[in-house]
Amino acid sequence: MTTLIDGNVHAAALRARTKARAEAFAAHHGRQPRLDVVIVGDHPASRAYVRTKTRMAHETAIDGRLIELPETVTAEALLAEIARLNADPTVDGILVQLPLPGHLDGQMMIGAIHPDKDVDGFHPLNVGKLYTATKIDPERMLIPCTPLGSLMMLHDTLGPKGLAGKAAVVVGRSNIVGKPMAQLLLANDCTVTTAHSRTGDLPAVCREADILVAAVGRPEMVRGDWIKPGAVVIDVGINRVPTEDGKGRIVGDVATAEAMGRAAHITPVPGGVGKMTVACLLHNTVVAAQARAELV
Ligand code: NDP
Repeated sequence: MTTLIDGNVHAAALRARTKARAEAFAAHHGRQPRLDVVIVGDHPASRAYVRTKTRMAHETAIDGRLIELPETVTAEALLAEIARLNADPTVDGILVQLPLPGHLDGQMMIGAIHPDKDVDGFHPLNVGKLYTATKIDPERMLIPCTPLGSLMMLHDTLGPKGLAGKAAVVVGRSNIVGKPMAQLLLANDCTVTTAHSRTGDLPAVCREADILVAAVGRPEMVRGDWIKPGAVVIDVGINRVPTEDGKGRIVGDVATAEAMGRAAHITPVPGGVGKMTVACLLHNTVVAAQARAELV
């Protein structure tokens, strides 16, 4: 019997807690926590993501603002925009939506965001804090949203101490998902393996996992018989595959139908990790607002 880890339920609960904190912040400081999202160009998927982020911010008592810049914006102009947001005391969180057009260096732009306003948790200083912290504290640190949301769902599923001693396998080693996910699992006392495209006998590696996180970007690559019976599976992948009606559909990195009856718990796609990603962004915005207010 496999239970689905419902991202909608977990995200709604986190957003409700975040909203209460945002309202308390506004009552105390006379303004809402504020998240400014910068988008460059007309990439349709990115535009849909940022619209969702600002709409969800408003529903969570956060002042979400969208800054739209043309595809042709120069690096100097984008850096000037980031500097303006860094200097604005009413801005708590800055997010530069990735990917950027080819002429702009994403790492440079992330590095230009003030680390205290880096609600994506991608600034090298925040990455360093994640890797060196003796205790991971999502109330005091800015942790990348997708791994943080995945960790929160694992805590809710297994209990706060339920990760200790578990064998965890993370498939994928990106800076955005795979690496920070592995680090969070390590900090929660899992024994962690990070797998990638050069890993030998990936199915055998995955079969060792009590906790299996798939963050690959390959539709349904992880088959049912790669999953250890009783494992908890977090499917981070979001892949659009063609359908006969031409509309396409979204699937994860795990063949969910094959995993049913084998995994103990699994996140569905859609309706799993993706929902928590946005909720964690809003959580990070309130964490950033509170930390900055304490400094004043
Ligand atoms: P990247 O493309 O940056 O990284 C993919 C990783 O998967 C790489 O480390 C790569 O290995 C590894 N990989 C690729 N092919 C294989 C293979 N055949 N076997 C084993 N490993 C492989 O992707 P992201 O980390 O940014 O995203 C991963 C997935 O998660 C995507 O589907 C993306 O859409 C989704 N995503 C979902 C989010 C959400 O909110 N739910 C948020 C962010 C991403 P190597 O390093 O060797 O190339």
